[in-house]
Order: sequence, then C-alpha cells, then structure tokens
Amino acid sequence: MEKIVTRFPPSPTGNLHVGGARTALFNWLYARHMKGRFVLRIEDTDTERSTQASVDAIFNALEWLEIDWDDGPFFQSRRMDIYREYIQKLVDSGHAYYCTCSPEKIEAMRKQALATGGKPKYDGTCREKGLPNTEDAVIRFKSPLSGTIVLKDVIKKNIVFDNSELDDFIIQRSNGTPTYNLAVVVDDMTMGINTVLRGDDHVNNTPKQILLYQAYDAPLPVFGHLPMVLGDDRTRLSKRHGARSVVEYRDMGYLPDALLNYLVRLGWSFGDQEFFTREELIEKFTLKNVGHAAGIFDPAKLQALNADHIKAAPPERLTRYLIPVLKECGQEVQEGQYLEKVIQTLGTRSKTLLEMAEGARFYYQAPVSYDEKAAKKFFKAVSLEPLIQLIKQLEILDEFNEKQLEDAFKHVMETTGLKLGKIAQPVRLALTGKTVSPGIFEIIDVLGKEQVISRLKKAVQFIESKENSE
Ligand code: GLU
Repeated sequence: MEKIVTRFPPSPTGNLHVGGARTALFNWLYARHMKGRFVLRIEDTDTERSTQASVDAIFNALEWLEIDWDDGPFFQSRRMDIYREYIQKLVDSGHAYYCTCSPEKIEAMRKQALATGGKPKYDGTCREKGLPNTEDAVIRFKSPLSGTIVLKDVIKKNIVFDNSELDDFIIQRSNGTPTYNLAVVVDDMTMGINTVLRGDDHVNNTPKQILLYQAYDAPLPVFGHLPMVLGDDRTRLSKRHGARSVVEYRDMGYLPDALLNYLVRLGWSFGDQEFFTREELIEKFTLKNVGHAAGIFDPAKLQALNADHIKAAPPERLTRYLIPVLKECGQEVQEGQYLEKVIQTLGTRSKTLLEMAEGARFYYQAPVSYDEKAAKKFFKAVSLEPLIQLIKQLEILDEFNEKQLEDAFKHVMETTGLKLGKIAQPVRLALTGKTVSPGIFEIIDVLGKEQVISRLKKAVQFIESKENSE
C-alpha cells in the first residue's frame, strides 16, 4: 500500500487555536498510526494578514504539543515560481483564461444576481475571448457548465455538487499571486499528499479543488472533513466561549498530553474510553471512528482530564513541565529526587500545574508567616507540649521512615494524651504555614529532618512569643 502522507497547512494570521490544533492532531495521529509522513506547510500568501509572529506562535504551539513533522516547514510565499508554472499549464491546456473584467463590473454582476435571488457568480464574459495576458488581468479556471462532482468524503460520506453552482473562479490575482484553491492543490500534488483531513468549513472549496486535480490529470487525495468544534451554545467556538490558543492552555498549567487527549476525543471515539496516553492514541487512531457530529468544547471536562493526566504521569516526566511553571512563579528548582518526591505528594491533588506549583511552594520556602485564622486556632499554649515532644522524638532519629515517624507521633500521643488530629494540625501549620496540604507524614518525609525540626522550632518560638505578649 502507498504510504499515507498527511499535512497541516495553517495560515499564520494569529495564534494556533484549539480548532486548528485538533486538525493538526488528526493529521499527525493518522500519519503516525499508519507509519506514514506528516508535512507542515505555512500558507502565507495573504501578505497583509500573515505575520512572522504568528509563524513563530504556531511553531511554539506545535512544539509544546510535541506534534513533530517529517517534511517542511514549507512556506507558500517561497513557492511562487511553482504556482506560476502550474497556472501556465492550465492556460496552455485550455483549462484557464485571462479575464479583464473590472472590479466594478464584477460588483455589478454580484448585485444583479442578488437582486434576482440568484447566487453571485462570474458570468463568463471573458471565457471564450482568448484574451492575452495584460497587466491587470486575472486568470480564471474554466469550470464545467453542467454535470456533477462527487466528493467521496471518508468522514461525511458522499457529497454531490452541481457544477452549475460553481463559477469560473480566479486562480491568479491581477498582482500575480495564486488564490488559496490553486496554491493548495499545487502544493498537495507536488508534496505527494494523499490524505487531506481538514475542518468542514472547507467543504465548499473541495469541488473546485477536485476540478483542478482533474485538469492536471492528477490522482485525487482522500478527503475527510472534520466536524467543527463548537461552544456550549452550539455556535462556532470563539473567545466568547473561553476558547483559547494552545499556548494559553500551556500557561494555565495544562499538560500537552491532556489537551491532545481532550481534542482528539472531541471528534473521535474508541468505545467509551476517555483517558488515552499519547502512545495509545497513536496505536488506536483510525479514521473509522471519527464522529460525524460537531464536538462541544467543555472547559470543565478538559480540566478534569488534565487532573487525570497529572495523576497518571510519572513524576520524572512531570518535572520537565513543572520546572518552567515554578520558575514563572519565582521558584528556581533543580530536577532530581527532591522535586520528584514533591510531585508525588501533589499529583493527586492538583488539577493544573499552576496549582501544583502553588502547592509546592512550602517545600522550597519555610513559612514566613502563618495563616492567621489557623494560627489563632492551632497555635495555642496547648500545642506547645506536643510540638516540643515531637522535636525531641525526631531529633533522636537518624533517618525518617514511615515506621519511625509513626512511632514518634505515637509516643507524643501517649505522653500528651492527645489524639493524632490535635497534633497533626499544629504540625502541618508549622511546616507549611497552611491548613491544607498533602499528608503530614509525606511532607515530613520530603522535607527531611533538618527542615522539619527547624520549622517546628520556629513555630514553638512563635507560640511562646504570642503567649507571652497576650
Ligand atoms: N490554510 C488553510 C486554513 O488554515 C488550510 C486549508 C486546507 O487544509 O486546505 O484553513
């Protein structure tokens, strides 16, 4: 079988948004699943709207998503000679012609069509004139006047278009640049793309592209049009729905694997399985299970999935993502065992990496103050004795293991007659400055003897000075 070659051809007119990322993802996954190739092409012929900043933003987003490509990036702006050559072929073979109708004339045609309830179409004035190339001429494709085109879509099944609905569309503007449909077909043909998966907002372009393939006598790729991603009110996803660019999700502390998992599930299913690792997606992704219905983007579901991915990720993998987030929060940390242990204690309690970074703060900085309400409640004279006892018990241990810690606490409970709950809260407050944190034994184990004792002593001092001043 021929190797599958897919592509992602974004127009660099802004950031990569979740809809675009989903298109990239489907093409990438399919290429990876089929052991084919994935091509990246930047469609930057619209020089007014394309920017280098958008190109960089797209690369950054793909890099963060770990969507890698085998060929490219190709830039359409650097391929003008190729388009010119292919346009000339169509003129030479009689499939295209020069048109000199003025914009005013075209506008009048449009108005006239609308006034009579028709579809605005070019009326073919120059079609048979055999005009030569002149400075302000455009080149139009000679569309068939009758018959039908069948789009055999692998996702939507067959869609039939009437040729009479199409007009002689422009393939080269008067400034010599190719239009989208022409450039896409020439690129896809010359880059060996045999599978085109894209948003179904492009369905209406496809009959024109099929006509171009036929005019070039080139084999058609397999087309698959993906249903759109919608907001909860079933309109196209936009900023209004809280939709964001891919890198904003990175900045909000999402894992790329979670976003990937969520986006692919928006238009594809595998039984009722919700959670997939990247490797599983590559293994299981086929076009057969791509859905026909639009996916509704649900930020809460994405966050829940993010929490699941954080929980499931091995700590050494999370370090890579957490370190920059911690840095962003002002905390420079090294990779290594300490960080991995920190992550282990926070993995089940963090929905995002931002939450995790926030939760990790006390592991790197002893509390400079204590939660005020909690201090009032737990740092009282009665807490002094258990804290002092615990310091004594911990000082005689040479290493902390679970059994020894339990024994130390048991001893304090016995000598003070207090229950674990009564002892644990002041200890937690002493070690973290807060009342909510991972389990007390876990914290002690990570912080280690020196830190724990020093923080407990500080709390004792705090209580003593508070008691004295009252
Ligand atoms: N540049 C087009 C877009 O961003 C790509 C269309 C296509 O996949 O053919 O929508």
